[in-house]
Amino acid sequence: MKPFLPKRVFFEPKALDYSLGRRLYDFFRQKDIEARMTASHNRVTGIPGKTVREGYREAKETLVIGVRKSGSFATCKPSAHYQLPLATSCPGMCEYCYLATTLGKKPYLRVYVNIEEILDQAQAYINERAPEITVFEGSATSDPVPTEYLTGALKRTIEFFGRQELGRFRFVTKYSQVESLLNADHNGHTRFRFSLNAAAIIDRYEHRTASMAERVEAAAKVARAGYPLGFIVAPIFVYPGWEQDYQAMFSALDAQLPLDARKDVTFEFISHRFTTRAKANILEIFPQTTLPLNEQDRKFKFGQFGYGKYVYTAEVMQAVKTFMQRQVAAYFPEAKTEYFV
Ligand code: SF4
Repeated sequence: MKPFLPKRVFFEPKALDYSLGRRLYDFFRQKDIEARMTASHNRVTGIPGKTVREGYREAKETLVIGVRKSGSFATCKPSAHYQLPLATSCPGMCEYCYLATTLGKKPYLRVYVNIEEILDQAQAYINERAPEITVFEGSATSDPVPTEYLTGALKRTIEFFGRQELGRFRFVTKYSQVESLLNADHNGHTRFRFSLNAAAIIDRYEHRTASMAERVEAAAKVARAGYPLGFIVAPIFVYPGWEQDYQAMFSALDAQLPLDARKDVTFEFISHRFTTRAKANILEIFPQTTLPLNEQDRKFKFGQFGYGKYVYTAEVMQAVKTFMQRQVAAYFPEAKTEYFV
């Protein structure tokens, strides 16, 4: 995969007070990429697009470079205590993106130049909760890997947590550009997770992300670098031939992951589900989508805050759960399954 290069860049004026901001400004000027100023990284105007679809595509090629204001971090239950805001959005165009309903119609990418200040805030949270361990999630609002070659924020964060007795870090990616992270002093304090799916599903729905084979290869490199590893298998679909496709995914992992790296591996399984709002968004951006979004085929599950979602029926869920459990037992008997939903 080629590294992500935006079509246009916006800078908050204050970002240029930081060495990273100035370095990025020079970098984009050299590349002849249009750079403009924006008063706030939260309200960016001037991204083209006459329709929702065009606006979405243009936003995915727009990078905003800003300063993350100090303030509290959002909580991130149940997998972590806090979100660690390293970036927002990503260049991928997954039809079922989990951020689609939260980032609005123009999910432009954002990176922050004041990473040291963000980590100072993380330190304050760690100190506050001592002697308990505090866990931070680095991908609650983004995939932080595609912009890593520009900012180095992920490596700085991994090394920050490497030095923490009471702080732990986790993040997840659908990308494979992991080279710059392999020599980081992680000290086993960062769980490096990959989002995986059957190859056919990735090829069909996860546009502009790494293929299954690329992610598996990257996971093997990360495992050899000694990181605790994790896989989120999501969203899981049931269709003719799903068992063979998911089995091929496990066997690709089996073929590449070193044996000694399998002791500390976690799995998270999420079956496909959708809300009425998510379906409307998807149909607006991907009108030709082949995603299975037929309410009649699903069970309606009431949600906590009044909205509900369409999930697979109990029978299908049980079949998927049993299948995944068997795969994990066969290929990764020492792995921990964190949850299945
Ligand atoms: Fe969304 Fe992740 Fe796909 Fe990016 S890679 S579009 S954040 S699901």
